[in-house]
Amino acid sequence: MKISDHKQVWFIAGSQHLYGLETLNKVATNARELTESLDSHDKIPVTIKFKQVVTSAEEITEICRKASVDKNCIGVVTWMHTFSPAKMWINGLKILTKPLVHLHTQFNRKVPWSEIDMDFMNLNQSAHGDREFGHLLSRMRKNRKVIVGHWKSDWVITQLNSWMRAALGWHSMQGMKVARIGDNMRDVAVTEGDKVEAEIKFGFSVNGYGVGDLIKAIESFDDQQVKKLIEQYAEEYLLSDAVLKSNSLKKAAGIELGLRAFMKDGGHDAFTTTFEDLHGLDQLPGISVQRMMADGYGFGSEGDWKSAVLLRTIKVMDEGLTGGSSFMEDYTYHFQDDHSMVLGAHMLEICPSIASDQPKCEVHPLSIGGKNAPARLIFEVNAGPAINVSLVDLGNRFRMVANKVQVVNPEVEIPKLPVARVLWEPMPNLEISAHSWLLAGGAHHTVFSKAINIEIIEDLAEMAGIELLVIDEHTNIRDFKHYIHWNEAYYQLFQNNL
Ligand code: MN
Repeated sequence: MKISDHKQVWFIAGSQHLYGLETLNKVATNARELTESLDSHDKIPVTIKFKQVVTSAEEITEICRKASVDKNCIGVVTWMHTFSPAKMWINGLKILTKPLVHLHTQFNRKVPWSEIDMDFMNLNQSAHGDREFGHLLSRMRKNRKVIVGHWKSDWVITQLNSWMRAALGWHSMQGMKVARIGDNMRDVAVTEGDKVEAEIKFGFSVNGYGVGDLIKAIESFDDQQVKKLIEQYAEEYLLSDAVLKSNSLKKAAGIELGLRAFMKDGGHDAFTTTFEDLHGLDQLPGISVQRMMADGYGFGSEGDWKSAVLLRTIKVMDEGLTGGSSFMEDYTYHFQDDHSMVLGAHMLEICPSIASDQPKCEVHPLSIGGKNAPARLIFEVNAGPAINVSLVDLGNRFRMVANKVQVVNPEVEIPKLPVARVLWEPMPNLEISAHSWLLAGGAHHTVFSKAINIEIIEDLAEMAGIELLVIDEHTNIRDFKHYIHWNEAYYQLFQNNL
C-alpha cells in the first residue's frame, strides 16, 4: 500500500564505462526490474522510482543535485551492480541532502555453478562494488542506512519499509509549523530547549501564540455548530444524558471548533497548551486535543513542543499501520517482586487512536489550573508490544531516548480513575529501564506508539544526525553508562559533520 500519492524514493544504480554498452544495458534492465519488483510489493509504503545507471562524476553530481531539490523526493537508494569507482561520487554526495540507503544486494540470488564465466563475474560485482562505495561513505562520514540481503527477501523489504517511513517523517519535519499556545509550565526544565537550534537541526519551527488568538477563533462559531459537533460526540463515544446536556461539553465542543480553525488557518501541524495560561478559556482543552491527535495533529502539554513535534512526526510515520500513537506520561508505578509496571496517563490528553474499545466521554473536575471541569475521553489500551520515545535538549545537542515496552491488560477494574490510561511493563524490566532512562535524562513526557517500532526511530535519528539511546531487552546499566560517556565525546567531535 502506498501512503502518499506524490512522494517518491529514487533508485540509482552505480556502474562505470569500462564494461561496454552491452553490460551497461544489462545493468539498467536488471536495476529497473529490481526497482519495479520492490515498488509493487504491498509492504513498500512509498513509490520507488528507477532513475538511472550512473557512470561518471558528472552524471552522479547531476542526479544528486536533482534529488536534493526535488520536493517530492524523500530519499535515495543506491546500489552498485558493478564496480563504480567511488571518487566519482564525492561531489554528488557532498550536495546530497536527502536520506540515503546503501542497498547491498545482488541481482542473482545464487551462483549459477555450471554456467558461471568471467562475463557473469563482471556483471555481478556488488560484493566488491558496494565495498568501494561503503568505504567512501564512511570516509565522508555520511549518515546512511545499510541494507544487506537479496532484494526479494522479507528482510530487505522490512528494512526498506522502516527507512521509507522514517524518511516520510523526516520530510514532514522540514517546514513543519508548531503553535505554542501559552508558554511553558513555569519552572519546568525538560520542556524547555533551544528552538532556533531545533529548527536548524530538524527543520521545524515553533512559534508562540497568545490564548486570546484561540479565544477569537472559538467565538467565531455559533451554537448551532457546537450542537452539531456534540451530536458527533454522541455517535462516536459512550456518554450519559447528564454529560450530553452539560455546559462543560458545550464549552469543550466550542474549544474544539476554535482550535481546529486556529490550527488550519495557521497551517500548523502540531501544538502545545499549558494549564497555567488558560485566560478566557472555560476549561483545559481535553476531548478536543484527544480528537485532534487522533486526526494526526502533534500535541504536547505544558508547552512541550518537542513532544508535539515527535508525535506529529510519528503520526506521519505510522500511517496505515494499526495500534495508534499518543502523547504519554509515565504517571505512577506498580512495584512487585518481578514484572513491575508503569501506569501511563496524563491529566487528560491521551490519543484515542490507541484505545482498545469505544471511549467513554465524561466530565470531571481537574485539581489544578483553577478552571471548570473539562470533558475528556476515557479508555484503556490492549496488551501488546509498544515503544516510548522522548526527545530532549542536552544543551549542546538533542538526544532521543526510546524504550521497548509490553502493554499489559490490567487484571482488576480501575473504577475511580477518570482518565485514559495504559499499563505497561518496560524492557528489560522496570528497574533497569527507569534507571537507564534517568541516566539518559529522558523526559517524563513521551510519545507512546503501538504502531511503529524502534527501527523506524533508529532510522529517523540517523537522518537527523542526532543521538539515540535505546533501552530494550539487551540493556544493562554498565554498558548504558559507557554509551552515554562515549556519545558525549563522539557528538562533540563530529557535531559539525552530522
Ligand atoms: Mn505533563
